[in-house]
Amino acid sequence: MFVVMRTGATDAEVNGVKGLILAEGLTPFENAGADRVVIAVVGEIGARRPQLKARLEATPGVATVTAISKPYKLVSREFHPEDTVIRVLDAVIGDGSLTVMAGPCSIESREQLLETVDFVAAHGATVIRGGAFKPRTSPYSFQGLGVEGLRYLAEARERTGLPVITEVMEPSQVDIVAEYADILQIGTRNMQNFSLLLACGRAGRPVMLKRGFGATIEEWLMAAEYIASAGNPSIVLCERGIRTFETYARNTLDLTAVPVVHHLTHLPVVVDPSHATGKRWLVKPLAIGGVAVGADGIMVEVHPRPDEALSDAEQQLDFPAFASMMDAVTAVHEHVRDLHGDLVRGANGGGANGGGANGGGPTGGA
Ligand code: PEP
Ligand code: MN
Repeated sequence: MFVVMRTGATDAEVNGVKGLILAEGLTPFENAGADRVVIAVVGEIGARRPQLKARLEATPGVATVTAISKPYKLVSREFHPEDTVIRVLDAVIGDGSLTVMAGPCSIESREQLLETVDFVAAHGATVIRGGAFKPRTSPYSFQGLGVEGLRYLAEARERTGLPVITEVMEPSQVDIVAEYADILQIGTRNMQNFSLLLACGRAGRPVMLKRGFGATIEEWLMAAEYIASAGNPSIVLCERGIRTFETYARNTLDLTAVPVVHHLTHLPVVVDPSHATGKRWLVKPLAIGGVAVGADGIMVEVHPRPDEALSDAEQQLDFPAFASMMDAVTAVHEHVRDLHGDLVRGANGGGANGGGANGGGPTGGA
């Protein structure tokens, strides 16, 4: 449930509410909005709900106590109506600017990584990507350079001044990855690895959570809730394609998810047309599509000689293709950025519960 404080409630009143929640063995999460403070009550409330609601309502400074209609709380727009903006080094994610995460699928060598980051940084990348610990479908495929790769990634940050993102595959790797990387990436295969979600939530770094290839939007947001519930509100969502009956592309990029998660949550969302399509020639059109529907950014794989890549050779862009894609997405972003608020919140009619986006539902409409 949410406790909405009266406008102008004092710190002592806010602390009084938090103390009551803590005394119940539950956790209060505060969101200080523009005009009032909202406190989410997180934990297993169970049968105590009616009694606890009444006690909170009677606590000084409290305006209302309401149930949260969604199973995810902290990541919902109901709790936090304003967009989350994440700052990491000089990069800003979620403020209406276009985030471009680019780099190789896997870090294969120091030279390969640095050659790539020099190019993408000079052509508009805002975050450097590169896999050091690789989740490969086959145990016999290249598994990544591990910590050696992390060291090259740190060198890439020094060289470009850009933050770096890389995947962490298991809780035991979180500390070492967080030591080198600015943003932790949780891959599609690990979206519901709950101990990894909690470990990343405690790591003190922003986290990018990729959508599980077989996960619904609600399951994805529940996974994000695990990270938030561990105390980390700096979460970027990444739509990277889901498995459908269609087999032409590697996955099906669910562009619908972009405005939907903007509607349901306050978190920024980026699209990954590389893993979504698995085909080089489809990356640019799907990057354009993602930006056009209001994504806060894209993640794209780039390699100096894609055909020689040790992983995902068929989907990595070469340098000219990256430059060409950047020209296109920059132009599209210029065109849609003024629509950002409209794309993100317009359908809500000003509040997360109002307006047309809730009309219809799966069975609504003609
Ligand atoms: C990646 O981005 O390196 C990756 C493995 O992606 P995904 O988890 O989406 O397959
Ligand atoms: Mn890849």
